[in-house]
Amino acid sequence: MTLIIYTSTLIFGSLILAFVFNIRHSKNNTLDEPQLIKIIDSMNTEMVVWSVDFSYLYMNKKLREVLGLPDTAPDHKAALWRAFGLNNPSEQLLTEIAESSSYEAHFKGADNMLTSIVWSTSLARKRKKSNIYISTGFNITELKKMRVNLASANDFFNSSMELAEIGVIMSVDKRNFRASPELVKMLSLKSASVTASQFRAMIHPNDRILFDGALKSMDSHDIRSIEMRIKSSDGIYRWYSYRYKSIEGTDNTLPLFGGAILDITEEHEKDILIERLAYIDEVTEIANRNKLLNVGQEIYDSSRILNCSFWMIVLDIDRFHIINDTCGYANGNSVLKDFAHLLYKFVTPSGLAARISGDNFALLLRDYGDDELPMSTVRSIQEEFAKLAVDGLASVSLTCSAGYSKLPRDGNSFLDIMEHAEFALKSASGVQSSISAYEPSMHDSIIGNTALEKALALAIDNNELQLFYQPKIDLSNNKIMGVEALIRWIKPDGTIVNPDVFVPIAESSHLIGKISDFVLNEGCRQNKLWQKMGYPNIVMSINFASSDFYQTDLKEKVFEALARAGLEAKWLEVELTETLALSDVDFAVSQMNKLRDLGVKLAMDDFGTGYSSLSYLQILPITLLKLDRSFITDIEHDNIAFEIVSSVIRIAKSKKIETIAEGIENSNQETILRKAGCNYAQGYLYGKPMPPQEIQKLFDKYAGK
Ligand code: C2E
Ligand code: MG
Ligand code: MG
Repeated sequence: MTLIIYTSTLIFGSLILAFVFNIRHSKNNTLDEPQLIKIIDSMNTEMVVWSVDFSYLYMNKKLREVLGLPDTAPDHKAALWRAFGLNNPSEQLLTEIAESSSYEAHFKGADNMLTSIVWSTSLARKRKKSNIYISTGFNITELKKMRVNLASANDFFNSSMELAEIGVIMSVDKRNFRASPELVKMLSLKSASVTASQFRAMIHPNDRILFDGALKSMDSHDIRSIEMRIKSSDGIYRWYSYRYKSIEGTDNTLPLFGGAILDITEEHEKDILIERLAYIDEVTEIANRNKLLNVGQEIYDSSRILNCSFWMIVLDIDRFHIINDTCGYANGNSVLKDFAHLLYKFVTPSGLAARISGDNFALLLRDYGDDELPMSTVRSIQEEFAKLAVDGLASVSLTCSAGYSKLPRDGNSFLDIMEHAEFALKSASGVQSSISAYEPSMHDSIIGNTALEKALALAIDNNELQLFYQPKIDLSNNKIMGVEALIRWIKPDGTIVNPDVFVPIAESSHLIGKISDFVLNEGCRQNKLWQKMGYPNIVMSINFASSDFYQTDLKEKVFEALARAGLEAKWLEVELTETLALSDVDFAVSQMNKLRDLGVKLAMDDFGTGYSSLSYLQILPITLLKLDRSFITDIEHDNIAFEIVSSVIRIAKSKKIETIAEGIENSNQETILRKAGCNYAQGYLYGKPMPPQEIQKLFDKYAGK
């Protein structure tokens, strides 16, 4: 644009040169050609016809205006000096100006305005004495102002970025980036121009996938943000947040992609502690389930954008509870730690190893097209794991099983993918060293469950559910001190379906709520009825599923059931499994405290089958500990099982928690447990679960009637 104006001014100037060559001048050295004067004056650009000795001088109307000279004022050399930005110049300087095609002058014009003119001078007429020149001006005052404004806007921008320590990086073609001065400083870049691959090479290998994702999602106009590590010139990675978006191009502008880069290393370091607490597993010091879910979902989203895939492998240490129980918790923990560190060796860039729960781990691996990778990786893990010796029990063979799925192919979210890998793991139903790939057909078995679910719903409506009762014996006086209510589904043809079959199905649907309401109300009603019938008061234990226990109106429901039956709270006991209580410890403790406030007793069921149970005795407000049947079965022959049981009983006593042993089938077991100081006993030795009329006979028998 500037060039066009400038060139056209010159063309104008040269057009009138033709006239000037024929200048005739009067005695007083001014132009006396009215026609020429008219033309020069009519031009909307500054013009002057002059000679170095000023024997000749004519300034046009426009120049007089710019200089603030009245029309009537005579042309004077001082005025021209001013227009050339000079003060009493030498003749030599004037000759230089006359001979230069372009000369920039700055001077104070009308109203003291700083004015800038670029003069273009041409020889109009050669004369012996002094040549006549014509200078045409190009007024660049406004342009100068714009430039100053632009320069200061740029300065302002750069200073703001410097003060805020924000770097900016932008690109129009996704390949070549331009970095702001602050970013050049922040990252010690060699130049403000940096290619995408040069920039990518500075990013931590594990974070490059995020940057690739950012480049790919460039067409989105939403503001997005990633956090990544970038290497500084000292070779150390620092954390940066990159907030980016793209701006569509217009007729005059190209589309722009870019954003702000902020050093967040310090914040990150502060976050590391919080992150450690929230995202690092305490025992193994690798990522925990929360971390896996967060990172996994990010990877899942990126893999969809980038068209790449990952393997999600879920691993389970076979029979870990046995290692835990027989070798002690400290050794159990060290197995978990060793296993975690072993997994870590197999993590590749962008992948992750995490502990999901108890003895379940996850490994996320980038897929490079080798379908055998999960299988071969797990095989290598199994080989190395088998080599780890466990102090105190070198004979224990260490094996693990795995299930795996592929993301994003095998699910609609990362959680889906993970559940499917777990599904594959479970499909091997406990076979040691199994490795199973997820297949959608695995769900077919669930279709069978759907039919069962429908039948169960009908059974509830048809009152086919019934409570059986199993006696609990007080080992100090051999009396029945309570019963456990165990649900049975009795079909119209008389076949009895055990809870192991239908409770898990009920738990995966809304049916469990109905079942638990029935168990709670029926258990209370039956216990009160026995009291009214004159039987000695006993405790009624009922089992709760996780979904019932975590209901916010749990306390109200239990209170209502007690009130409806007219039963005192102390004659009701709720059994909870360790896994249930530990799935959300804080919430579980608050729910348990609410039940304790009512006066209801709390038993920890199947104790010893979960993980690191003892430590939780400190925080769970339980009144009774039910030692799992698996300990009792071996207690006669297995010294370690005996040691575990007696220490658990001792510890429980010290915490004022009573103990009961489940699954007592012979008197030998009873003797051993009595010696170990166990308070109560339950098992086939005293009676299997039975209908109310039958257990009443047992009450009579025990009462010596
Ligand atoms: P649980 O609460 O640990 O119940 C004890 C299980 O061990 C019962 O199986 C009982 O019959 C069995 N048992 C008791 N003594 C012996 C013994 O000496 N030897 C052997 N081999 N087994 C013995 P059942 O009744 O089949 O119940 C299985 C599980 O189903 C229960 O384990 C409990 O987790 C669940 N369940 C039972 N009733 C209910 C209920 O009403 N609601 C909920 N949510 N779950 C229930
Ligand atoms: Mg139970
Ligand atoms: Mg049990």
